[in-house]
Amino acid sequence: MKNLIDLKGKVTLITGASRGIGKATALLFARAGSDLVINYFRNRKEAEKVASIAKTRDVQVEIYKADVSSKSQCEKMVDFTFKKFGKIDILVNNTGIWKYAPIDKMTVSQLKETLSLNLESIFYLTAKVVPLMKKQGGGNIINISSTAGQRGEAYHSHYAATKGAIISLTKSLSTELASYNIRVNCVAPGWVDTDMSHSSLIGKDRKWILDQIPLKRAAEPEEIAGAILFLASDLATFITGEIINVNGGAVLCG
Ligand code: NAD
Repeated sequence: MKNLIDLKGKVTLITGASRGIGKATALLFARAGSDLVINYFRNRKEAEKVASIAKTRDVQVEIYKADVSSKSQCEKMVDFTFKKFGKIDILVNNTGIWKYAPIDKMTVSQLKETLSLNLESIFYLTAKVVPLMKKQGGGNIINISSTAGQRGEAYHSHYAATKGAIISLTKSLSTELASYNIRVNCVAPGWVDTDMSHSSLIGKDRKWILDQIPLKRAAEPEEIAGAILFLASDLATFITGEIINVNGGAVLCG
């Protein structure tokens, strides 16, 4: 009998998948039967580990090194995926950086790094996969935003601006691409315990952070991956242009 969520025969490209939310997503998608391209930037060993766990689910897995802030590297990665598998069904734009920068101290290079990695990368990858998805009769794009994109974030205004832009980009592309059977959705996590946020979650701000989350804890990466998988699945075939908040209720209190 077919599983309720079954990605067998699907091909998924996930950016920043050697750790954190990207890793959890890769492993969950492998459990659901999807073949994978796991993008990493620096840590090949960690990417190999993720790939070897994923392969125990009897799926095909490739790892691919690319700096997603580079247009040409994004394009080469999509070409690689297409050559290897002959299609790309699902693109998960997960990569992101979150750096402290008060507005009057923010350098131009800090600003550009965040804009380019968090936002431009999504334009590069999406622009390259869309013609392939159009040709193959459909596809699924899932972007990772943040509560910061909805309510802003002090000292991280560049980050929050990219995450807000990801929400409007998702909505724009969902209507632009709907007639091609390409769904475009977004998951907006609140605090998640990953390398990105761990030092804040165990530091002096811990109490202040947890006080703003009705569920009184940060998410595990797997809890974000669940929402991403749902959007990629056939349970979500009528959902496009949607932002799924996964934040323990936090956005209600911010
Ligand atoms: P993370 O730091 O563990 O993962 C980020 C990934 O991006 C890493 O695998 C890293 O290697 C990769 N990366 C960094 N620079 C890259 C580059 N130039 N090219 C390719 N890959 C690169 O953080 P995470 O928490 O797993 O974050 C995943 C996504 O979730 C991000 O978009 C982040 O903004 C978002 N998010 C995280 C939280 C949180 O609390 N952790 C909250 C809201 C949203």
